[in-house]
Amino acid sequence: MNKASNKTPEIDESRTSNFIEHLIDADREAGKIAGPVHTRFPPEPNGFLHIGHAKSICLNFGLARKYGGLCNLRFDDTNPVKEEVRYVESIKEDVKWLGFDWGDREFYASDYFETLYEYAVQLIRKGKAYVDDLSPDQIREYRGTLSEPGRESPCRNRSIEENLDLFARMRAGEFKEGDRVLRARIDMSSGNLNLRDPVMYRIFKAHHHRTEDRWCIYPMYDWAHGQSDAIEGITHSICTLEFEDHRPLYDWFLDQLGIHHPRQIEFARLNLSYTVLSKRKLLQLVQENRVDGWDDPRMPTISGLRRRGYTPESIRDFCDRIGVAKANSTVDIALLEHCLREDLNRSAPRVMAVLDPLRIVIENYPEGQVEEMEGENNPEDPAAGSRKISFTRELYIEREDFMEDPPKKFFRLAPGREVRLKHAYIIKCETVVKDESTGEVVELRCTYDPATRSGEADGRKVKGTLHWVSAEHAVNAEVRLYDHLFTTANPGDEKENPDFTMALNAESLKILTNCKLEPSLKGTRPGDRFQFLRMGYFSVDLESAPERPIFNRAVTLRDTWARIVKKEGA
Ligand code: ATP
Ligand code: MG
Repeated sequence: MNKASNKTPEIDESRTSNFIEHLIDADREAGKIAGPVHTRFPPEPNGFLHIGHAKSICLNFGLARKYGGLCNLRFDDTNPVKEEVRYVESIKEDVKWLGFDWGDREFYASDYFETLYEYAVQLIRKGKAYVDDLSPDQIREYRGTLSEPGRESPCRNRSIEENLDLFARMRAGEFKEGDRVLRARIDMSSGNLNLRDPVMYRIFKAHHHRTEDRWCIYPMYDWAHGQSDAIEGITHSICTLEFEDHRPLYDWFLDQLGIHHPRQIEFARLNLSYTVLSKRKLLQLVQENRVDGWDDPRMPTISGLRRRGYTPESIRDFCDRIGVAKANSTVDIALLEHCLREDLNRSAPRVMAVLDPLRIVIENYPEGQVEEMEGENNPEDPAAGSRKISFTRELYIEREDFMEDPPKKFFRLAPGREVRLKHAYIIKCETVVKDESTGEVVELRCTYDPATRSGEADGRKVKGTLHWVSAEHAVNAEVRLYDHLFTTANPGDEKENPDFTMALNAESLKILTNCKLEPSLKGTRPGDRFQFLRMGYFSVDLESAPERPIFNRAVTLRDTWARIVKKEGA
């Protein structure tokens, strides 16, 4: 199943190029870059990757592929308090699964700690950095606001010698956390707050997953990021819009040091309706047990989407369709679902599964008889072939496919009415059997018309076709149905939802434990994907076992995106 998943994504040269490609083209034409285009994907290993990161991954690796260049995977591991090895491992797994390869270029900002330290010493020597004794609160207070200039720290004019000495002693562990920081000496009255003597190093007496206990001062992200790009010879440093205001600072650092200067290009981050895309918030959901871990199928994480049944192809297709732009916007989650539907429509075998079973007995069908019906596996893919499906006297159909007192337009089963059973016969409902005490319908007594075997011309037409499973051959399974994790389209909007957990959807998970599957679904393996006729696309869950199969519904069959597009086009 899903053999295509391992294929490397192909680049579609005919696709219209985005504004980033135009900038790169211009740089190449102007001879501004000497070698190949070199990008990087720079996650901080402080959580699992989400669909927003997929956008950045497809963009960065996609550019490298398009231009015959390179893309590094670089972990921005500058904050040991929040980072963990298991996040590093999950990030690598996710990037690979999406179909991208960083070759031997797996880098860590922590690999550059020594170089960054030397760079900092260079700035001190130039009088461009100083050790500050102000407390974090005082630094914040002295920083001023957008309308008020900042104030200079009393330590700002320390001598170079004193700064060198204090910085060395910071590194040697002589001071407590929060006692001292190293700051760039730029401009406390700058209109750009990022240039008001930003902190470069703070003291953390913390164990780092790679450098262990060798360091007790750690570089700030803003100090590490641009220099890491420079060290790796990145030509185009692509990041999200919130870093636009940091660019003058990155430029300042690189100019002061006189080292390779990548071109930074900002693009709008992905926002998705009914979804939060912030590692901090996703971590909160995990820590408060609002979901079942990072890979809960309702999570917008790559691992959650994978577990839900998403394919790498569908996610890459989604990233391709949303494109990249300079203006923030929110993408309708229906588009993501549409991309999966399109992919699985091509690749997922059709099978029959009854999620909420109602027993029917076909009274004129011989007891003990088993007929092997022929079911095509995928009408979209003739090569998918067909399979045998056992037809017997006792079957299950979907409870919602029967109504005792139906409205006119109900074309499914009702007393005295006929339907076709997919791949089998036309049946008629003769009697309804009820539980005497509760009045609940427990069984239908039906008859079948032997002249209507599927595939044989019988000239009979009925409006409804139902899926079914032989009672005797059914595989019992658990099926999990999902809805959006949030009830509002914009749960991440902090003005609208100061506490985003208030918008959690209490009905986002529905577990059905008495489902009946056709026997071909015996022996499926986690990650296998199917279309359950009329019910949606499903994948075998990670925790599924042969004796207790578990399926996740990835998406329903109803394509709300196609409907939106049609309405807008009309
Ligand atoms: P979050 O805001 O979710 O906490 P982050 O930006 O802190 O994410 P990083 O690990 O720093 O997470 O992100 C790695 C890369 O992915 C960065 O280049 C970042 O710009 C990009 N990225 C993160 N979120 C999105 C998003 N929603 N859309 C596009 N790119 C994103
Ligand atoms: Mg970040």
